[in-house]
Amino acid sequence: MFKKFYDVIVIGGGASGMFAAGCAAAKGADTLLLEKTNQLGNKLSITGKGRCNLTNIGEVNDFIESYGKNGKFLYRSFKNFFNQSLIAFFNSYGIETKVERGGRIFPVSDNSESIVNALRNYLKENKVTLGLNLQVKEIVLGDNKTDRNNKVIGIKLSERKEIIKTDKVILATGGLSYPKTGATGDGYRMAKKLGHSIVSLTPALVPLETKEDFVKDLQGLALKNVSVTVFTNGRKIGEDFGEMLFTHFGLSGPIILKMSSLVIEHLNKNQEVSIVINFKPALDEKKLADRLLRETKNFGLKSVNNVMKNFLPRKLVPVFLKLANINTDKKFKQITHQEKEKIINLLTNFSLKITKSRPIDEAIITKGGISLKEINPYTMESKKIKGLYFCGEIIDLDGKTGGYNLQLAFSTAHLAAQSAFNP
Ligand SMILES: Cc1cc2nc3c(=O)[nH]c(=O)nc-3n(C[C@H](O)[C@H](O)[C@H](O)COP(=O)(O)OP(=O)(O)OC[C@H]3O[C@@H](n4cnc5c(N)ncnc54)[C@H](O)[C@@H]3O)c2cc1C
Repeated sequence: MFKKFYDVIVIGGGASGMFAAGCAAAKGADTLLLEKTNQLGNKLSITGKGRCNLTNIGEVNDFIESYGKNGKFLYRSFKNFFNQSLIAFFNSYGIETKVERGGRIFPVSDNSESIVNALRNYLKENKVTLGLNLQVKEIVLGDNKTDRNNKVIGIKLSERKEIIKTDKVILATGGLSYPKTGATGDGYRMAKKLGHSIVSLTPALVPLETKEDFVKDLQGLALKNVSVTVFTNGRKIGEDFGEMLFTHFGLSGPIILKMSSLVIEHLNKNQEVSIVINFKPALDEKKLADRLLRETKNFGLKSVNNVMKNFLPRKLVPVFLKLANINTDKKFKQITHQEKEKIINLLTNFSLKITKSRPIDEAIITKGGISLKEINPYTMESKKIKGLYFCGEIIDLDGKTGGYNLQLAFSTAHLAAQSAFNP
């Protein structure tokens, strides 16, 4: 069923692998795309809560910064293919895009399936041979010892003996998160067997668990315009402003996910980490005290429980008052000076102790991966194995939320494909 030889074989039919296969084929390569699940773009379909934040409007340097200290590795990939080229590519498949808060770019359809479909069409138009439900087990090397490097000669599928021949393999098997999408770490194992180093794999952009049990009562509560500060051993190490979410185990939502890597870094050093929420970042303590005074004048005869709903979401009030140790039925004018101080303190310093992150299965992205020291940033080719290329989440890079991770997947795919097939 397979041809005797393919110019390029791409392993993994996610965002990166689909785009790499399409780009190689568009240049004229006879291309085979192998995907172990029964469909393409499983993870891509669930990106951006099903809306797909496909890139960001930012400049190259904003992008580079978003991946932390290793970000510079991507200069070449971005020079070759960046956000405007990506937008133009999807436009050419009938997808209009829009810019949202923070420069995030989404399809106007708000539907990630439209992005997956565009990529499917790209593959079809360029006659990529597609193999679904086919798991690659091994990348096979030649034994030409006279050559400086080992060379790719083909791949082997699980439960099949024959080698499917090629001299160019693009490994795009993704990371370790959301394993139901097919990302189960096969690519790391294959690359390791070929002598590649894998930088330790940990979750990034991941929800956090708290010691406090009361979060269960707040499950599903989303907060906007709050500021959150991270403390370790009493020292402030990070701060952000925006949206967050309470869950049955702790905290999630955009600003929590963003700070999760920092939190994990310090938890791994066995340090105590707490997250302090300021529900009223626009008001200082004096303004809050004045506001409490006004509420006492206007609504003093109402219960504390009722008046606090003017300050906080309804769901939070009982938990808040329990922590402040204030009787909810008390009239607002009866609360003491000390109780008012407690209210102000809790409104601005609502502290939760972080015990651990959720497992990597639940992370948006995997931190770590194929060591960048062993990949040529100008080609995405392995420095160890001739004919082996990498793209997407498998490499040791991860970005913030905001479309940076998909742009990484598409840009590295484009460069890998261009380098793999350059007749
Ligand atoms: C819930 C969620 C939301 C996200 N939202 C966004 C967002 O809005 N914007 C953004 O920029 N990023 C987002 N991301 C991150 C983004 O989805 C990833 O960065 C991106 O999908 C990585 O693409 P990839 O092609 O490298 O890997 P994947 O998309 O994981 O694809 C890897 C593919 O390889 C296949 N495979 C694995 N092993 C084998 C094998 N042995 N043989 C054959 N096939 C194999 C898998 O089945 C899978 O289909 C989100 C991630 C998650 C989990």
